[in-house]
Amino acid sequence: MSSDDDNDKAGTGTRAVGAGRRAEWTGAVVNPPVWRASTHLYPDMAALRSGPATNEDGRFFYGRRGGPTQWSLAEALTQLETGAAGTMLYPSGVAAIAGALMAVLRPGDELLVCDNAYEPTRAMATGLLTDIGITSRFFDPSEPANLARALTDKTRAVMLESPGSLTIEVCDIPALTALARERGAVSIIDNTWAGPTGFAALERGADIAVMSLTKHVGGHSDLMMGSASAGEALYARLRKTAQALGQVVSPDDAALALRGLRTLPLRLDRSTKSALAIARHLTGRPDVARVLCPMLPGSPGHELWQRDFSGGCGLFSLVLKGGDRGRRDRVIDALRLFGIGYSWGGFESLVSPVDPASIRSAGAWPLADMDPADRFAIRLSIGLEDTADLIADLDRALDANPA
Ligand SMILES: *Cc1c(COP(=O)(O)O)cnc(C)c1O
Repeated sequence: MSSDDDNDKAGTGTRAVGAGRRAEWTGAVVNPPVWRASTHLYPDMAALRSGPATNEDGRFFYGRRGGPTQWSLAEALTQLETGAAGTMLYPSGVAAIAGALMAVLRPGDELLVCDNAYEPTRAMATGLLTDIGITSRFFDPSEPANLARALTDKTRAVMLESPGSLTIEVCDIPALTALARERGAVSIIDNTWAGPTGFAALERGADIAVMSLTKHVGGHSDLMMGSASAGEALYARLRKTAQALGQVVSPDDAALALRGLRTLPLRLDRSTKSALAIARHLTGRPDVARVLCPMLPGSPGHELWQRDFSGGCGLFSLVLKGGDRGRRDRVIDALRLFGIGYSWGGFESLVSPVDPASIRSAGAWPLADMDPADRFAIRLSIGLEDTADLIADLDRALDANPA
């Protein structure tokens, strides 16, 4: 199920529309139907005996190995990820991160995790992986030299995320992955923020690209799923591990994710433009101390974003002046168009409070120059509402709660 050469050359919209739509899976309809199944019935003993011996993608064996709807989604994601030979699907983004780490790490190995990793990724490193004899250490990825110093002969994998969770700074993935490769370590990147259409993770040096499909690919806040894409050798290991762990996604959810995928570039383009306009507006407000949005000149990692990314998304953070946690909470309460909740990347705007300094262990960058008491941030996920309405909502909530 490798990428299709012709489709590789087309633009992202064209690729998202065509991806994974094999005639043998769609039949005469446009989008692959929901193909629900557990049992494969064999016409006779000879057919049964020839079945279980083969474990190939695209050959139905038993529901746990997926069917046409899941294969179509996996192939679509592979086609969007330049350099990938295959994609495994998982029941959540966290399961995809676990699946990638479990495929690569063995007891006695060491894992290096970027300090701005998604919190459950950190928890996996210090919990589950520690329990099975894998050592984890955190490093500040804002300077590749920090990784160079942290790598040892035992380092089997480096877990990266760019932009990082909560403070949304871009780091130098080509430099970091080159350092890992030199020392024989596998680079795994959580590419949920940009996705394959905004950041070509494998082309930029990562060995495994993980995504929470719950966010942009689903796009409608109604499904949980994750994916991991890789070249041939690592894909084989991802697949073996996922099968051993019994990981499977439902065909109904796969169909929803495929539906989301068709409009992904369109939605990302819209929310990126909207987020940039809102971020620009917020920098002009005297009561806003910091806007952390990679698309915005002056934000941490903006130059790297311009160099390495072909798109953005609607997720960014801001810090209010004065460091008043109570005011931060009152501003969030006063918003009307932003739902208060975790997750992001849906059609609707969301807001959540984030306190990055309380989570990190290798530095509180890019807020290191701020008093720890001032670092309470607000994370916004900009949806598809009209930009002017979102700006008016933010202005009203901020004005109603002066510093
Ligand atoms: C939400 C998120 C995940 C986890 O995805 P789920 O589908 O919620 O398990 C992983 N990485 C990042 C960066 C996320 O924001």
